[in-house]
Amino acid sequence: MKIAIDRDYLRDTLADLVRINSINPGIAPTGPGEAEIAAYVADALHKLKLEVATHEPEPGRTSVVGTLKGSGGGRSLMLNAHVDTVGVDDMLDPFSATVRDGKLYGRGAYDMKGSLAACMTAVKALVDAGASLAGDVLVAAVADEEDFSLGTAEVIKHYQVDGAIVTEPTELDICIAHKGFMHLEVETIGRAAHGSSFDEGIDANMRMGRFLAELDKLEQDLRTRKEHPLTGPPSLHAAVLKGGTGKSTYAASCKLQIERRTIPGETEKQVVDEIQAIIDRLAAADPTFKAAQKTLIVRHPFEVDPKLPVVQVLQQAATEVLGKQPRLVGDSGWMDTALLAAAGVETVAMGPVGAGAHSKEEWVDLLSAAKMAQVLAQVALIYCQ
Ligand SMILES: [Zn+2]
Repeated sequence: MKIAIDRDYLRDTLADLVRINSINPGIAPTGPGEAEIAAYVADALHKLKLEVATHEPEPGRTSVVGTLKGSGGGRSLMLNAHVDTVGVDDMLDPFSATVRDGKLYGRGAYDMKGSLAACMTAVKALVDAGASLAGDVLVAAVADEEDFSLGTAEVIKHYQVDGAIVTEPTELDICIAHKGFMHLEVETIGRAAHGSSFDEGIDANMRMGRFLAELDKLEQDLRTRKEHPLTGPPSLHAAVLKGGTGKSTYAASCKLQIERRTIPGETEKQVVDEIQAIIDRLAAADPTFKAAQKTLIVRHPFEVDPKLPVVQVLQQAATEVLGKQPRLVGDSGWMDTALLAAAGVETVAMGPVGAGAHSKEEWVDLLSAAKMAQVLAQVALIYCQ
């Protein structure tokens, strides 16, 4: 069964989505959050006769899930797209949704309202065609991916699905692996004293210097380790450094926030142990060296076995629609895929072509979004039988 895609619906829906400001307030304090865009999506999914529910773990941080009910007994599939965007800074006309040369411009067009419009258009195509599926197809339009992933984390609690496609833009490649990341804080602890009291003061900043020299060696060591074939090597950087209170005072504390990018196979414990080994080594060499670490956030890396049905069906459908086999790729960034995979859902990522995520000029290619809609509809037809 070949499914017809309503490209006008896709373009108009995408334009509406881009015109609604859904900047994540966790990233830009003036951001309004997801309530307005969620109301729009809920209404649109209602019009397609889906069962619609909203989820709001925090006020104004709304996710919407529309379910196209199957007749029962088949595999269920979630099409996932986040509705929040990063800020607009000095973007020109961020909410214009102008179309030029087949590209639709505006904040979120590429990351990832084009993908959401493709998910909605895919479901509309199934509804219009009167497709009879055994399993449910869910459109999950989720909040807060750009910050803490409140949306997908909440949605997972309410829906059990067999498979999921996170439609983050991938240039129509199929993403089967990506990096994770951790944020850690290391504090060196000194003793405050008057600047003249060298015999009393313990300089936390100087001790952080020792730690940083060792951390630099660890960073270089990460590069020599075996790379993951799809995501590249792990890395870390000393992101934020704050120490001391005044020029004539020995610094009692110095805090360093580290970002560590992890690759599939690396664990949280391994990352923490590597940092602790440096602290322990420096403390053994000098009893006045005191430091402690804490973990601020953990986002696991992601990897899916390409032999799993959701990847196989996606490959098959994409090859039919695109006329060539899509590449299996890895991504260096992090996506909600990892949360779904951790919940036991077989998950893969694929989305349209475009450019300018998080930058000054952002656009999505409309033809690629239409192809994506076609791919998603074909996947549902096969996967949810
Ligand atoms: Zn995104």
